[in-house]
Amino acid sequence: MSLEKIKQALSTVKYPGFSRDIVSFGIVRSVDFENGKASVSIAISTSDASIPPAIRDSVEVALKAVPEVSEVDVTVVLSGGKKPSQNDGSAPTEGIPGVKHVIAVSSGKGGVGKSTFAVNLACAFADILEAEGKKAGIMDCDIYGPSVPLMLGLSGRPFVEGESLIPMDGHKLSVMSMGFLVDEDTPVVWRGPMVMKTIQQFSQNVKWGELELLVVDLPPGTGDAQLSLVQTIPLSGAVLVTTPQPAATQVAKRGARMLEKTNVKILGVAENMSYLEAPDGSRQNIFGEGGGEQTAKDLATEFLGQIPLDQAIREGGDAGMPIVLANPESQAAKAFVSIARTLLDKVRS
Ligand code: ADP
Repeated sequence: MSLEKIKQALSTVKYPGFSRDIVSFGIVRSVDFENGKASVSIAISTSDASIPPAIRDSVEVALKAVPEVSEVDVTVVLSGGKKPSQNDGSAPTEGIPGVKHVIAVSSGKGGVGKSTFAVNLACAFADILEAEGKKAGIMDCDIYGPSVPLMLGLSGRPFVEGESLIPMDGHKLSVMSMGFLVDEDTPVVWRGPMVMKTIQQFSQNVKWGELELLVVDLPPGTGDAQLSLVQTIPLSGAVLVTTPQPAATQVAKRGARMLEKTNVKILGVAENMSYLEAPDGSRQNIFGEGGGEQTAKDLATEFLGQIPLDQAIREGGDAGMPIVLANPESQAAKAFVSIARTLLDKVRS
């Protein structure tokens, strides 16, 4: 009997909550078959304690149904998200030199305020870490619309030192962006082929210095560009940004599936543009409500919080002064700081 038969049986096992099977998810690390005993090793990165036993049980059932198999041994290894396992050769293991934790900000589609969220989150991290004498940075990989330089009031080109790029400094953050390297009028079709090369450069050839935490602003969507990105950069985990309308849940879940496929740990879901507060304190749910919380529930991850719809957020973005710095007492700024604290605890634990 060939190993193929075992693999075939494994490919009938679905990842809990997904229609996709565990083989195509890339989480099966090794398969052995000897004297009727099938041994399977599975590596996953999940914070949901119910998933490893659920996978183990389904694998056992599937393999025991193969007539030649008399004994089944399933090992499920938790990769914890920090060091993704090399099960399918797709997950990177080498870290970015000098950088301790890397958190990606992702969204299933554009226009949800992902970059605004990433920039303000990075500023909140920088503030929190400054008290510890540590630094934060932001890597803007949004090839289609690199808006981080504008949002941080930066322009120009970074210095090149030998083979290395020196990140620019913006509001206590070390910043590297596609926007520094690509002219605004570079056609988007031409940017695609540059993605992998640039990302590799960003993670290996940027002199980040000592950073406690790096925020990565991923391109919107779930296509090849995003996939190669999360495969190239070793991530501590990812945050999904969504808007409140229930329909956004589907889009966000598509993003989550892509992350799961490459064993990236989902640290939580944040909801942007959640509500508009009137001067009398009443709240209007302009874009609907509940999308963020529902997405987090569906993905069995934490709901990190809500960022209000606030004209000052848009103005801060356009003026290069993120609201976390421009108005630290605002509800939005407080929400960003609270989310940053939760995430810092998560990646450090
Ligand atoms: P994405 O990165 O998802 O495409 P952006 O961060 O570029 O989205 O945001 C799109 C626009 O919405 C920007 O003009 C930004 O200033 C604005 N925006 C984002 N979040 C908010 C918010 N909570 N309140 C008001 N405006 C926002």
